[in-house]
Amino acid sequence: MQNNSDFSDALMTRISAKRDDLIALTQDLVRIPTLNPPGENYREICEYLKDRLEARGFAVELVRAYEAPGDCEKYPRWNMIARLEGPRSGECVHFNSHTDVVEVGHGWTTDPFGAELKDGKIYGRGTCDMKGGLAASIIAVEAFLEICPNFAGAVEISGTADEETGGFGGVAYLAQKGYFAPERVQHVIIPEPLQKDRICLGHRGVYWAEIETHGEIAHGSMPFLGNCAVRHMGAVLTEMEDTLYPALAQKHTAMPVVPERARQSTMNINSFHGGQAEPEAGFTGLPSPCVPDSCRMVVDRRFLIEENYEDVKQEIKDVLEVVKSRRDGFSYDIRDMMRVLPSMTDKDAPVVGSVARAISEVLGKEPEYVVSPGTYDQKHIDRIGKLKNCIAYGPGLLELAHKPDEYIGVDDMIDAAQVMAKCLMELLKPE
Ligand SMILES: [Zn+2]
Repeated sequence: MQNNSDFSDALMTRISAKRDDLIALTQDLVRIPTLNPPGENYREICEYLKDRLEARGFAVELVRAYEAPGDCEKYPRWNMIARLEGPRSGECVHFNSHTDVVEVGHGWTTDPFGAELKDGKIYGRGTCDMKGGLAASIIAVEAFLEICPNFAGAVEISGTADEETGGFGGVAYLAQKGYFAPERVQHVIIPEPLQKDRICLGHRGVYWAEIETHGEIAHGSMPFLGNCAVRHMGAVLTEMEDTLYPALAQKHTAMPVVPERARQSTMNINSFHGGQAEPEAGFTGLPSPCVPDSCRMVVDRRFLIEENYEDVKQEIKDVLEVVKSRRDGFSYDIRDMMRVLPSMTDKDAPVVGSVARAISEVLGKEPEYVVSPGTYDQKHIDRIGKLKNCIAYGPGLLELAHKPDEYIGVDDMIDAAQVMAKCLMELLKPE
């Protein structure tokens, strides 16, 4: 029998020795373009993960989220869950990563799906968010199983769909099916790119709504015969600038959100459409003169653990009612599009302590505790799975997510894999 520090040294060395494997694995994952929307190649990436993990003794299930938003024959929502039971009974540690990536966008100087390795960094869409984290967790688990085969409990790895579009065809679906029930899983780590020396305890809440103002179409040369929906929406925007935005700036949270400017309530205008639809590509003609009879705006309100959802919604309605009281011919609709409550794991939760100790051993520093400005799949594990012992911990810089020339540092992935493996050593008690 070995003692713990023998295990630990062997485990750290083994992970360093897997550097080439880690690079190749990350590159393979990035080269499967799992763009979402629409949700491409989920089956391919699940098959890839299944082949790798089955070869290492995992029992692997592929689960399709039938009838989740976006699921269809062309773009099926596939998820992969791998589980390996240890020889002794104990608790289960689960690493959950989303496999989808966002659109490429403009401004790249490298091939977004080429996964080029340059100066110790791998470039590509999804390297940082979050295929690098997925690869690091797989390497951590594989090294742990090689060095510490006689452990107590179970380890799970999942690759799930649709996180970027709300997670309904991924973690939410699996949570509904019991995959995150506290009887099955006791500790969850989500390797989102929150930085290797930070523990992310949770996220702010979200309320998305579409506001529509109504008008009446007429000839553009005689706008007085119609009713302009865009001008009505302009009045809504003005009222928001005058009263709502200043009010939001006054609301501060005790949550340790990073970046610090997100420690207040925020609201983005996601989109604004009024009047005639954009012409199809290639159309070179002029628009016709019409008074717009509809204007739609999507707002993205992020709220704090100290706020409640009903109040957040009411504030926006209040703005609309004020404008209505002042403007003739003003009418509106407001439609809820998405609602996510804030989530924050207790700092005393077991997985938090375990990752914190691992960070201080591997990196020689105390971790920073943070909360994410945007949500991630923790919301579903918390609300649907009823599992509170869940955090995000993974390599990569959040600021690079969704940007051109996104990358992940190989050294950062190695460090994060060592932290994850140390954490497994503590939670799964190898002998
Ligand atoms: Zn992500």
